Amino acid sequence: MKKIPSPEIIWRADGSPESKQFSDIYFSVEDGLAETRHVFHAANKLPEAWRGVSQFTIAETGFGTGLNFLATLALWQETRQPGQSLNYVSVEGFPLSRADLGRALAGWPELAPVAAQLLARYPAPHRGTHQIAFPHQVTLTLIEDDVLAALKHLDAEIDTWFLDGFSPSTNPDMWSPALFKQIARLSHTGTHFATFTAAGAVRRGLAAEGFDVQKVPGFGRKREMLAGHFIGPKKETADAPWYQRPKSHRPSDIAVIGAGVAGVSAAAALSRLGLRATLYEEAGVGAGASGNPAALFMPRMAVDESAEGRFHLAAYLHMERWLTSLDETSRSALFRPCGVLQIATNRAEGKRFEKIAARELLPPGHLQLIRAEDIMSFAGFDTGLPALFFPKSGVLTPSALLDFLKDDVDLHLASVAELICEDQKWSLMDKGGRQIGQADTVILANGPGLGGFAQTDWLPQEPVRGQISFLPKGQVQSQCPAIVAGHYLICHPDGSGLTGATYELGDIASEPLAPTATGHAQNLEALATALPSLAAALQKLDASTLAGRVALRAQVPDRVPFAGPAPDAAAYRQAYDRLRHGDRFAAYPPAPYLPGLYLFGGLGARGFATSLLLAEHIAAQIAGAPLPLPQDLGEAVHPARFIIRSLRKNLK
Ligand code: SAM
Repeated sequence: MKKIPSPEIIWRADGSPESKQFSDIYFSVEDGLAETRHVFHAANKLPEAWRGVSQFTIAETGFGTGLNFLATLALWQETRQPGQSLNYVSVEGFPLSRADLGRALAGWPELAPVAAQLLARYPAPHRGTHQIAFPHQVTLTLIEDDVLAALKHLDAEIDTWFLDGFSPSTNPDMWSPALFKQIARLSHTGTHFATFTAAGAVRRGLAAEGFDVQKVPGFGRKREMLAGHFIGPKKETADAPWYQRPKSHRPSDIAVIGAGVAGVSAAAALSRLGLRATLYEEAGVGAGASGNPAALFMPRMAVDESAEGRFHLAAYLHMERWLTSLDETSRSALFRPCGVLQIATNRAEGKRFEKIAARELLPPGHLQLIRAEDIMSFAGFDTGLPALFFPKSGVLTPSALLDFLKDDVDLHLASVAELICEDQKWSLMDKGGRQIGQADTVILANGPGLGGFAQTDWLPQEPVRGQISFLPKGQVQSQCPAIVAGHYLICHPDGSGLTGATYELGDIASEPLAPTATGHAQNLEALATALPSLAAALQKLDASTLAGRVALRAQVPDRVPFAGPAPDAAAYRQAYDRLRHGDRFAAYPPAPYLPGLYLFGGLGARGFATSLLLAEHIAAQIAGAPLPLPQDLGEAVHPARFIIRSLRKNLK
């Protein structure tokens, strides 16, 4: 992945930053804050514009020092009504380091409280979308990428634009006709904009895309600036209608089926956006695959730049940022940041690790290649092969994580066997055909049971049976407490541990979910083979006396989860049949979704690393908020992807 460039900053005598690349200042030295309030707040009619609406979405070109964002956050905190949400999308192609951001913002003591909130959450510069939650139902979607690429992949409906590139004469990419097209695509009738510039090319460019543009008094010595609103018509039409998000109507009645990490995260994400959900669960919170006593949190690395690989990285970084944002007490209750060592199990994998490390796919400090010759000193054992060490990874305590997330969610202990939709309202039925609940919107997050409804029986996912084995106290000691080498080993400080998991496919549905001695023996053998230095200790253990746990996980053929609206599979095949003949641009209808039904599953073994971001992705679709996944990654997790792929391959 191409690294995101850093800005070249010159610090002026008054302490304000100037860009060397663009020979321009980030904000007015006269009074940057007063300029923000004049240009972006007053000219965009804020805060009046957000009065009375349930959510308001602002997009900014050029996050820079975050001054506009913080001034807006402060205004929001002063004027919002309870229950209202603010989405702030901002694009930055040359992100400042956290240290420079702090230095630039130190000049605004009145913003110190909100600046502290930003600095505590600001991500290490890294190309991609960073979605960050703030108090008072504020979500910052910071897209670190070139502005045109960022807006092309953005899925959002913007109410107000802050156009804040450097001067059009030195920074034309921030004011290009192609960019104005994207700004219009993301706007609706009445969407407002304001910008400090009065340049003719900007005025004409925005007018050409459907904006009513006015010259209004500028700030300070600038006589004029531009402001206006979108009157249409839109020229850019939606690409790939089969992946377009359904229209949101901010439902009041949401049911989430399944209280594993997916369902609980979905309910938490909805609640953050001001929407309440009821959780329906047959066996208790974390009763399925999310209920192991410990779980590894680590990324799934790919060498290539496939959407799948980028999705797993984005999800991992999102979860890592979330963990960092917790206060120390909460974090230490649910996460042990001991790092995870992933050891190559053969030469080919070792080579792959070397390639991964050379690609710099994660921000600095997130990944370390341990060469074969250094394994001994690093881990205290030898394997003759290289390893990857993830210093920010570690061991989660699932029960504590679920407890923290579920906080004030309503939980209903009941088994949903059937879903019936009438007049856009879903009835949740039990096995005996009795109605146990009703909802406008339903999120199915029931793990391997996801395909168990008439609406979802076409879903390509397969249950995998996994058994873990608990190693008694004093049996395992390791310099690295969390190791993956095909199987994984988690060592607790008292010398007890946990290893697994077996991987059983096929006809397993009817088998009892109880651990077997054979499963334990397999786990011990696999661990002893991967880590010969432990073999002697493991041989002393009697597999027939070990305790353990069995759970079913759901696995999807492309190893990417499902998170998005549920397609009406038969209607999809009919509506997009011409894709079989390669007819990409026929006049296709909008995607035929089952109204208000969303699918969230297929998490495989990486549920804890992916659930939080996917939950935000689904919650944002339901709430009508900007999506945290760029379009191509949204398509990679879209539940309809297998239908579209099979049509394209002209398969039945
Ligand atoms: N709004 C910012 C603030 O509150 O501090 C100031 C923005 S500054 C005037 C313009 C920003 O646009 C800079 O941070 C610059 O790095 C960014 N920028 C310039 N060209 C860009 C491009 N092609 N893509 C994305 N960002 C770009």
